Amino acid sequence: MNIHEYQGKALLSQYGVTVQRGILASTPDEAVQAANAMQEQTGTSWWVVKAQVHAGGRGKGGGIKLAKSMDQVRDLSQQILGMQLVTPQTGAAGKTVHSVLIAEDVYAPGPSPTQEFYLSVLLDRAKGGFVMVYSPEGGMDIEEVAEKHPEKIYREWIDPTIGFQAYQARRVALNLGLKGGQAFKQMVSFCQNLVKAFEGTEASLFEINPVLKTSDDRILAVDAKVNIDDNALMRIPAIAAMHDPREEDPTELKAASFNLNYVKLDGNVGCMVNGAGLAMATMDMIQLSGGSPANFLDVGGTASAERVAQAFNIILEDPNVQAILVNIFGGIVRCDRVANGIVEACRSLGDLRVPLIVRLQGTNAVEAKALLEASGLPIRAAVTLEDAASAVAAALA
Ligand code: GDP
Ligand code: MN
Repeated sequence: MNIHEYQGKALLSQYGVTVQRGILASTPDEAVQAANAMQEQTGTSWWVVKAQVHAGGRGKGGGIKLAKSMDQVRDLSQQILGMQLVTPQTGAAGKTVHSVLIAEDVYAPGPSPTQEFYLSVLLDRAKGGFVMVYSPEGGMDIEEVAEKHPEKIYREWIDPTIGFQAYQARRVALNLGLKGGQAFKQMVSFCQNLVKAFEGTEASLFEINPVLKTSDDRILAVDAKVNIDDNALMRIPAIAAMHDPREEDPTELKAASFNLNYVKLDGNVGCMVNGAGLAMATMDMIQLSGGSPANFLDVGGTASAERVAQAFNIILEDPNVQAILVNIFGGIVRCDRVANGIVEACRSLGDLRVPLIVRLQGTNAVEAKALLEASGLPIRAAVTLEDAASAVAAALA
């Protein structure tokens, strides 16, 4: 589960990580109130208005603006609230901005120059541990740094059984170019607390870009991109409550309400499969036959008429779908039952609008094929995977 920047910063604060402070607002009036409160708390007289959407690159898309007066706070909030923010990570449609974070400006000039770092903690599944990935080149596109200057990306592996060691935090601060003094000390505790936050919230990612060294040598998280492991949410209700359904694909939400494991993709062949492994294999097969999968959909063990109809409805909500492939292996579930379910679902839906290829294999597969063919519906029944693949290719031709 992804959460917003303001929620990520609240979690960081709970673990003692120092953050750029801010207050959430969902109207220009609230934004002005928030700016006043920020001024009282921090003494700041400049503010940043930050669009809260689940996507990075907000700055590049015009979703982050500096305000130098209360009037500007109001005007910029007015502009950003309700806008359709397009960033390199949102796709062309963009995302609607429902709220903004009114944050203190932390880039004021002072005795020493400001510096932006990149710091993240994530799972390293291959090593069975955590890894801190960091770079002195923060603030910008980290993918670009990784490509052009791989030597500027550092890694510090963390063994979860012994935890993040103090010498490791010191090594990070040194590699970031900090040499003793307050900024060095603050960076060491910043890193230690960041790892605590990562572990304590059962996260799979904490990405802070930029981490800022202010001109008076304080270390602050200016941004927070956080992903929490979905499987842990039942243990951490306070974090589960941070879920914002407005940020999710509406079709995926609808599928979740039917208990269907659906992930939208951008291909043209809709697929309905039982079992995640078979679904992955089916998607590969679609690709090999010259199509490209429009979705991942695992209907699970029960393929009743109602469930099949729900699945078809979900698949057909995607206008890119030009054919549907059903690939069901009848182990516990009998293929003739599934075939009946498909026939009933097709009748209840009326015109399917796209060719339907159905491969049922396993218990009573022969009876199932006969049922589909006897239905009089325009269903192409296939038995082998090759047969199904060529039928998909023919439907797209
Ligand atoms: P992102 O674009 O979605 O990654 O959002 P960030 O929170 O990382 O902000 C983007 C950029 O806005 C940062 O890299 C900074 O350059 C700038 N920014 C953020 N906070 C401040 C601030 O307090 N003052 C100023 N002047 N710029 C800021
Ligand atoms: Mn950022």
